[in-house]
Amino acid sequence: MQSRIASLASLSIVVSIAASAACAPCFAWGDDGHKIVATIGTAMLTEDAQKALRDILGDETVADAAVWADKMRSDPQYTWIAPLHYINVPRNATSLDMARDGNGGVQVVSSIIKYRDILKDTSKPKEERRLALRLLIHFVGDLHQPFHVSYKEDLGGNKLSVQSFGKKSNMHKVWDSELIRRRLNDTKGGWATMSADLRQSITPEQLKKWTASGDPAVWANEAFSITRLLYRDAPDARTGVDDAYFQRWQPTLNECLKVGGVRLGTLLNDALAPGSAKAAKDAKAAKDAKSGKPAKDSKQQAPKDQAPKEQAPRDQAPASTPTAPKSGNTAPKQSGAPE
Ligand SMILES: [Zn+2]
Repeated sequence: MQSRIASLASLSIVVSIAASAACAPCFAWGDDGHKIVATIGTAMLTEDAQKALRDILGDETVADAAVWADKMRSDPQYTWIAPLHYINVPRNATSLDMARDGNGGVQVVSSIIKYRDILKDTSKPKEERRLALRLLIHFVGDLHQPFHVSYKEDLGGNKLSVQSFGKKSNMHKVWDSELIRRRLNDTKGGWATMSADLRQSITPEQLKKWTASGDPAVWANEAFSITRLLYRDAPDARTGVDDAYFQRWQPTLNECLKVGGVRLGTLLNDALAPGSAKAAKDAKAAKDAKSGKPAKDSKQQAPKDQAPKEQAPRDQAPASTPTAPKSGNTAPKQSGAPE
């Protein structure tokens, strides 16, 4: 507790020093994170949705589509996209309030709704739907990187300077890419393997829980509850982001990627081939019933090589929020902490 207060205090000193320095803000999962979310999501597509996606994307891979919005950043004709990757919340807020934080529709939450509707509208020109699809794949990813639902003053953690694995960095970047890169050091096969591993560890219960709401504002609120935990558990100013930090937050990182992927898949199925997910589910249930297998929504077995069950967050936020780190020394029970 003592050291946490100390580390928060020292972090805020770092912040104020860093705030004056020029800082090129970046607002996205790094390429790996986006590709992981996108491929978890598109692996869930029904046959019809898959076909529709291929028809729209042509030769472009899903992984390329996922990072398109970042690759276009320096192109002047696409600068209007820059404020759509994130949403700001006031510093003292305990939750997101779209009436207060909506920014006239210029943020990630409204953008997901807007481009979902465009993608869904088959009367729109294919080019327009292609742009919508690229943006959706990207934004649903972004919304599940907690620092994208964050504070304006520090540019969603971009101004929170930290040492990360011995190098100068910032908290936004740490969560965009450095923790994933750290994880990839332990993974042969790169992001594609990591994506497959994560996807296989998703349980039917999680799938159900994470798709309970299709409202991006609800998703953003969950992300914000994690953001608040991340501010409370700021890395020690001297040691910075190290292996201990990585181990502590890895379950949360993994879950953010998985939740984002699952929600993206559900959203794309609905937008690209409405009703096809239900039809596929019904067909499978009918087939299973014939062969004597238990129906889809009855008792289900966990996937074979599933990761250990992730526990519900301890002292934090909504039931469907991705997990907080498990070690007891995080997410301190602060007296007077707003919750
Ligand atoms: Zn982005």
